[in-house]
Amino acid sequence: MIQAVADTVIAHAGELTELDRAIGDADHGVNLERGFKAVLAKIDAISALPVNDALSEVGKTLILSVGGASGPLYGKLFATIGQHLCGPQELSKERVVGACEQAIVVLKALGRSDVGHKTMLDVLVPSLDRLRETELPIALHEVRERAHAAAIATIPMVARRGRASFLGERSQGHMDPGARSSDLIVGSLCDFLEARL
Ligand code: ADP
Ligand code: MG
Repeated sequence: MIQAVADTVIAHAGELTELDRAIGDADHGVNLERGFKAVLAKIDAISALPVNDALSEVGKTLILSVGGASGPLYGKLFATIGQHLCGPQELSKERVVGACEQAIVVLKALGRSDVGHKTMLDVLVPSLDRLRETELPIALHEVRERAHAAAIATIPMVARRGRASFLGERSQGHMDPGARSSDLIVGSLCDFLEARL
């Protein structure tokens, strides 16, 4: 699953960088490509770990290797999900949703951000809301569609956090790069699970 996410993000690095060129500093794809290549370099070791430690390792690797705001944010996201999935209990949708909820709380505090600020949270939060309501595995496509619609919905928003916020109203009319990378991450997770559940 981690490999699928990494491959998808790396394949779209150019697009993410172009989005960041419009309202940031043209490095979002470069940043995430560096981070997820570092993850792929240790994918054998990561996949030998229990799921919580594997996600924590992904998080740590992203924090250490990604420059820019998105590294610590995505890093903390994966690490916090991992932290809340430890223990011998079987994985369930409820446990995963609970772990993601905790991660969103941490992310909001770290970025002093919330839904509506034109960031990755504008995709992560509605995707999680849809996952919570969705019957698995048959309705995974609804989560993927929600993520993509949410990324598109950042286009008319005015950025309130991150570099794009320096542009004020001129940030309108462009998709937030972090919202698009979150859309790609959610989409690749849905694709992966759909093929296997
Ligand atoms: P940088 O802005 O440092 O160049 P990136 O280009 O890699 O970092 O990432 C930019 C993305 O990070 C934005 O599009 C946005 O989605 C996200 N982001 C930036 N600041 C915040 C924040 N305070 N809270 C949540 N997300 C943020
Ligand atoms: Mg940038």
